[in-house]
Amino acid sequence: MKITALETFVLHVPVSAGGIADSRHQLSHWGAPGVRIHTDTGLVGTGYTGTHAHLPSDRMITSCIEAAYGPLLLGRDPRSVQALWTTLQRHPPLQWVGRAGITHLAHAAVDVALWDLKAQAAGEPLWRLLGGSDEARLEAYDTDGGWLDRSDEQLVAETEARLAQGYRAVKLKVGSRDERGGFDPARDLRRVALVRQALPEGARLMVDANGGWDLATALEAGRELAAFDVTWLEEPIWYDDLPGHARLARALATPIALGEQLYTLDAFRDFIAAGAVHYVQADAVRLAGVSEWWRVAELAHAHHLPVVPHIGDMMQVHLQLALAHPACTLLEHIPWMRDCFEEPATVAEGRFVVPQRPGAGTALRDDALERYHVA
Ligand code: MG
Repeated sequence: MKITALETFVLHVPVSAGGIADSRHQLSHWGAPGVRIHTDTGLVGTGYTGTHAHLPSDRMITSCIEAAYGPLLLGRDPRSVQALWTTLQRHPPLQWVGRAGITHLAHAAVDVALWDLKAQAAGEPLWRLLGGSDEARLEAYDTDGGWLDRSDEQLVAETEARLAQGYRAVKLKVGSRDERGGFDPARDLRRVALVRQALPEGARLMVDANGGWDLATALEAGRELAAFDVTWLEEPIWYDDLPGHARLARALATPIALGEQLYTLDAFRDFIAAGAVHYVQADAVRLAGVSEWWRVAELAHAHHLPVVPHIGDMMQVHLQLALAHPACTLLEHIPWMRDCFEEPATVAEGRFVVPQRPGAGTALRDDALERYHVA
């Protein structure tokens, strides 16, 4: 089996209700720059990463795939995915210009497409190729009802709607600002109390600051969260602030979750070694694909830390990985890209349905390319 061609694409898919906000971002569309890798067998592998639908940066990712990685891949056997990972990651000129950022996101898309091909060639869904069981029970938690720009009334209504759908775990965004642009933790805590009140006994509530607080605010607001039985506080401060997160992890009763903004196995090693993280939110499309995600999950597992993948791939690859890896029992749900896939990740009664198609779940519907492709 040999790689014969790489074909890149950029999808811009609308988010819920015309737009969403967290403490750092306002979005109307989710971006998925990616690649379809063609082979001499006729099998085509699909992989993509996740962005905020900014076309100039999406184009940097696809041009990295075409111009830098393409020549290293043509003629190679896509099933040698671990060897190809090392080839792409350690290629001296590329290593010089990027061990994180655009090159890493581009590598993620390529690696996912290669694993998609490997699983298709084996005639199995990726979770089975990786050793998972179809009896795996993977709980879903919902994030799409808890955006920072939703009113208190909307927040409660969204929570009640999720409960009616069978969810028993939801996430709420924090990091509100007042009219003068200062932090407004009082608004955040009021909303945490409202959602907690709307949830039945035993339901899980998570909060996510998207790196928006400073350390002093995170310490102060974080202490108040203990009264609301919050499962985790996610990215309280700037993503790369390892000593700050370590301090919060020691000071707060509420566990710390992070990882959606960490690019490498080395970064996870350092956060875990410093005791700065309790819930490891590795993202296969910010790490360099399935290959590096699996290494992070194994590292976390060796420290007896749960892995709860970030939603960055809109669930398709992460569903396969979370079904296969023993460190995973919970996965985030945001349904923005549902109508892009041949077999979209689906939640029933609060659990993910186990996908059955061979591959990584990334196969795109033809009409998704027609509707969302940005020329
Ligand atoms: Mg998050």
